[in-house]
Amino acid sequence: MSTLEIRDLRVAVEDKEILRGVDLTVRSGETHALMGPNGSGKSTLAYAVAGHPKYTITSGTVTLDGEDVLSLSVDERARAGLFLAMQYPVEVPGVSVSNFLRSAVTSVRGEAPKLRVFTKELKEGMDALSIDASFAQRNLNEGFSGGEKKRHEILQLELLKPKIAILDETDSGLDVDALRVVSEGVNRFTAGGETGVLLITHYTRILRYVKPDFVHVFSAGRIVEEGGPELADRLEAEGYERFTKASA
Ligand code: ADP
Ligand code: MG
Ligand code: MG
Repeated sequence: MSTLEIRDLRVAVEDKEILRGVDLTVRSGETHALMGPNGSGKSTLAYAVAGHPKYTITSGTVTLDGEDVLSLSVDERARAGLFLAMQYPVEVPGVSVSNFLRSAVTSVRGEAPKLRVFTKELKEGMDALSIDASFAQRNLNEGFSGGEKKRHEILQLELLKPKIAILDETDSGLDVDALRVVSEGVNRFTAGGETGVLLITHYTRILRYVKPDFVHVFSAGRIVEEGGPELADRLEAEGYERFTKASA
């Protein structure tokens, strides 16, 4: 059982305040959808929690099972059990998917998995996500299609087994088939009840496949409305406008 607790988080980028007091608690076994219009600060929240140096925490706290996350390095955050799937993953020429994943697993688990064991784990993970075997030898994110990038993120989830995963627009740019595969991956991942997921999204589409327990509406750097899955249905029907007006 793990808990990520974000309290009154304020974050600035280049002296501009982007997050204006965010309160959010994600426990293992829970799936939260954080939804909001473009530019509302959703990715800023993800980056700030992950420890991106460009994002300055001006006040507030983030803890994972009581431990101060904000004082940890990016690596330490990953080892503590936090995982961020980025909206725009970086390309790393010269590093294969397989090598990258083995290093990541080694770093997070604290010891290198036996190559044979890891190869089997990797193959199973790739099969489950309908990823072709040749993918493991490709350079990280280089020339990946949108769908390949997102499948790769879910593959990381399955291998790293974080306590809390933040998925930033994992649904963007996916066709229906890829969306289904990615959603099934998220659902498989949360089914065990050991992981909490914060699913950041602009669209309600993925919520037809991944059923959130909680929905938070984000606008202008803070949460302006919270509810259960029915809130996502309302957003789909009504759009963000009435929520963004309320917060302006
Ligand atoms: P969302 O993910 O909801 O679309 P973002 O967190 O990406 O929103 O952006 C929120 C605001 O913060 C925007 O006005 C954006 O221009 C600004 N911002 C975010 N990251 C940066 C950055 N690295 N440099 C400059 N401005 C940024
Ligand atoms: Mg955006
Ligand atoms: Mg974003």
